Amino acid sequence: MPEERTRRRITVNGIVQGVGFRPFVYSLAQKHGLSGFVENASSGVRIEVEGRSKDLDCFAAALGRDFPPQALLSTISAISIPSTNDCRFSINLSRKSGSVDTLISPDIAVCNGCLTEMFDPADRRYRYPFINCTNCGPRHTIIENIPYDRPYTAMRGFKMCAYCQAEYDDPGDRRFHAQPNACPVCGPRLTLYGAEREIVAGAEAAVGLVADFLKKGKIVALKGLGGFHLAVDATNEEAVRVLRLRKAREGKPLAVMVRDILMAKSFCLIKEIERQVLLSSAKPILLARKRAGQGLAPSVAGGSTLLGLMLPYTPLQHLLFEQLDIPLVMTSANLSDEPICKDDDEVFKHLTGVADYFLSHDRDIYLRSDDSVVSCLAGNKARVIRRSRGYAPAPIPVKDDGPQVLAVGGELKNAICLLKGKQAFLGQHVGDVKNLETYGFFQETIAHLCRIFEGKPELIVYDQHPDYLPSRWAVAQGEVPTLAVQHHHAHLASCLAENRVNGPVIALVLDGTGYGLDRTIWGGEILVGDYRFFDRYACLEPMPLPGGDAAIKAPWRTAVAYLHETFDGRLPDLPFLNDHDFGPVQEMVSKNLNSPRTSSCGRLFDAVAAMIGGCQEIKYEAQAAIELMQSASCLAERPYICDIEDQGGLRMIMVRSIIKGVAGDVASGVAPTRISGRFHRTLVEVLVEEVTRAARELGIKTVALSGGVFNNYLLFNGLITEFGRTGLNVLSHSSVPTGDGGIALGQAMIGRYHLLG
Ligand code: ZN
Ligand code: ZN
Ligand code: FE
Repeated sequence: MPEERTRRRITVNGIVQGVGFRPFVYSLAQKHGLSGFVENASSGVRIEVEGRSKDLDCFAAALGRDFPPQALLSTISAISIPSTNDCRFSINLSRKSGSVDTLISPDIAVCNGCLTEMFDPADRRYRYPFINCTNCGPRHTIIENIPYDRPYTAMRGFKMCAYCQAEYDDPGDRRFHAQPNACPVCGPRLTLYGAEREIVAGAEAAVGLVADFLKKGKIVALKGLGGFHLAVDATNEEAVRVLRLRKAREGKPLAVMVRDILMAKSFCLIKEIERQVLLSSAKPILLARKRAGQGLAPSVAGGSTLLGLMLPYTPLQHLLFEQLDIPLVMTSANLSDEPICKDDDEVFKHLTGVADYFLSHDRDIYLRSDDSVVSCLAGNKARVIRRSRGYAPAPIPVKDDGPQVLAVGGELKNAICLLKGKQAFLGQHVGDVKNLETYGFFQETIAHLCRIFEGKPELIVYDQHPDYLPSRWAVAQGEVPTLAVQHHHAHLASCLAENRVNGPVIALVLDGTGYGLDRTIWGGEILVGDYRFFDRYACLEPMPLPGGDAAIKAPWRTAVAYLHETFDGRLPDLPFLNDHDFGPVQEMVSKNLNSPRTSSCGRLFDAVAAMIGGCQEIKYEAQAAIELMQSASCLAERPYICDIEDQGGLRMIMVRSIIKGVAGDVASGVAPTRISGRFHRTLVEVLVEEVTRAARELGIKTVALSGGVFNNYLLFNGLITEFGRTGLNVLSHSSVPTGDGGIALGQAMIGRYHLLG
């Protein structure tokens, strides 16, 4: 007697569209002899399967286990329904209805299947730079609207040829419903332009010519997934110097693209976890330790002990490296502080005179997206420093459901966040929202994120700093209620949210600048709190910042001010002072002219860096602190004496006592590397002691670490080791940036709890 047939309806939510999920379900159903259908619903993917219950169980198990590599399942639910006695399995067409809970995949590096085809002379896509399939290719950057279907993408202008259409329609094909599917006959094409915008070559010859130009030291703008790169031979010092000069980018290390992992290992020490990051489908820039004498042009990463490396991720980049055995500098094509260029018009307008050639194509980029940056140097764990291409807009799962909130982030390293249900959509890196161009990009990103995720926020949250452009944007919205959130409270909440805990916690928040409740600048804080409240338990002693921003740009000014404050105006005789006209700075501080007070940890690093003869004027953000960290070979054994004072219930970590110690060592000629080691040791000890004290007093067992200073892995690793002895549970960031790129998540969570009352 034949076994009875049963039918189930299975709903899958997560990243399940545009990643080959339906063909996977189709072949799985075939394999287990089931009938039914699969379809994209706006609320996910809906499956109905019918067959013997034993086969249904096998199907369900494989569904949650063997799904395609780029899919990300957040929930699977199943119910039994009456059988319909259908006899075949089919894929139903897309439909748009209800709410959109289906997630848009980030852009995905070209897969091995496509690479094999691209280098196969017999394949019809041989050497075709826009090859892709459901496992790979552009996604987030080409989507204009949802659902993720070709008419809503940058591919809508390309009508598929009969061959491509047949693949697209065949459920058994790797390109079934691959929206960017294309071939040399019907798809996008390359065009190579010269400096005067004249056409140098079309699709066929372009790659070969570009490889030759690069070998000759020319600068080429290359259109990629999220925007243009400027590429140049990373071993050609003269060429790299010209690039820096033309781009007006001094000092800040440049990222390098290498052909393969072998070449990566020739430039950097690559640990296993770092190898995995380099090879991952997000293909971020990995910050890794440089090898000595590796043959790169000195101007690439100057005196840095680290190098940013990445592997090719577009078919075009692979085609180029087929003809090159040199590493390439690959830096975002923009002028300093402006967003990455994404269109021909932009790139011609901004980079004429910078690039010698422009290799472009006719597939539009809807949303610009920089390369992401990841480091594994802290705690041997991959931590995202800049979250952009390959990661955004994959959701950060949060613990509980609640009202929808939009958070607009801070001013520097801006990223926005749409919190919807149990998912936080953290947008791609926008940058420093200080000029009109970046402000425009900021607004584009909000519009885009709200469109593709159907955002209808009940509240808009912004940083309390009244002068930030994102804050002004939020306040100007009018129709939606707004909430201002303190900067370091947002850091605290961001760390809680990423770790899916509710607190309360002790939060150690260390960063450069954040507007404080008392209208001074905070940045070296021990807070206690959760999403609803926070209290300041301890902070670094506030010190004067002569000229505000002027001091941030010139650490020597900060050093003079800190010394002036420490030694009551009588500066000790330290070598770095010989190079500066410090009198006016002292006068500003003593007369309290334009010298706001700050408890910033970043500024303390600046002051110490300048005092030991390190960076006197910065060329990029956090330069002095980064160089100070790199100058220490390890944490020293002996810390400086650091006093604590109780000031009306707020514990003050006395910066002056640390400055006194550092000044003493500098005066007696102690080596900078040792001073840096002692300085780091001092911070580790005093911070762990104060946090532990707070935890004991308040009966809290969890500590959250957040703020840009935690990108300092010497400090971070030292803290982790010391906290390990205290028995405290330590939370830190990994998939959300610890710097200001992560605060929008915290803002959004605080906003949600504000609405919940
Ligand atoms: Zn592929
Ligand atoms: Zn075609
Ligand atoms: Fe911050």
